[in-house]
Amino acid sequence: MRVMMTLAGLFFLTFIGVSQRDFTTVEIKETLVKDNYYMLEGSGGNILIYIGFAEVLMIDSQFAPLSDKIKLKIDQLSGGKPITYLINTHHHGDHTGGNGNFSEDAMIIAHKNVKKRLSTDQHSKAFNKTTKAKDPSFWPRLIYAFQMELTFENNEVELVHLPHAHTDGDTGVLFKKDNVLHLGDTFFKDRFPYIDLGSGGTIDGLINGLAIASLYIDNETKIIPGHGKLATKEDLDNYLVMLKTLKRRVVKASANGKSLEEIKASGIDKGYEEWGTGFINADKFIDTIWTDLNREEGN
Ligand SMILES: [Zn+2]
Repeated sequence: MRVMMTLAGLFFLTFIGVSQRDFTTVEIKETLVKDNYYMLEGSGGNILIYIGFAEVLMIDSQFAPLSDKIKLKIDQLSGGKPITYLINTHHHGDHTGGNGNFSEDAMIIAHKNVKKRLSTDQHSKAFNKTTKAKDPSFWPRLIYAFQMELTFENNEVELVHLPHAHTDGDTGVLFKKDNVLHLGDTFFKDRFPYIDLGSGGTIDGLINGLAIASLYIDNETKIIPGHGKLATKEDLDNYLVMLKTLKRRVVKASANGKSLEEIKASGIDKGYEEWGTGFINADKFIDTIWTDLNREEGN
């Protein structure tokens, strides 16, 4: 229950804005993923760090007020090695809020739509909130469109774009040799997803992207979800089955002439009741699927 509340809290904080939040009590906790890889949890999206011989590669940066604590933790774990690369899994503030505090030393890398969204005002219809454009110190300096392969020391790091999944700028980051994958917010372990329809996310893109990601990995792969605990391929495959099942149920009920309200009231989350106890409950997820499938082309 405590984990559940924490997860719900993390998501909520993403959208109420950083200024209303007191970060002084937040601790940065590390989980050893495997040798030289740590997942860091504080407030916001999960960070993954890879400690190389001489440098550190970091994925996502949580919120700006936590940057000093994150740097201190990475310093302790790495013995003071510099952070030279920062990859963003997508543009949301709970994953990129610290960018400006790392960009002096680190080359920020992301999909091109992350730069587009960080450099312009973003309005969320779902949360009725406008996020102002960030200054250039937050923007990725190295961007890609489809796929990118980075050699970091002797490690091959593959950046794979998942088109129109959680947003329109999602990157899955795969460390091929060591079999570690960060999926950003395209994957929440044992929870319904948040699909940001206003930022180009879609249910079909999410399913297709993760189905491909699942083909790249095996039962030994360590998967870092955007939020929640370290996961496995089995967790990812369970999540995929859930996504496909719920989508199919909504499509079928719609085809049978059911209204959105009737679909919500029909117990369509049967077998997945536990998945809706976090930030996205069953009603919100059904609403998202329905809205996505019924919107006009181009919206
Ligand atoms: Zn997100």
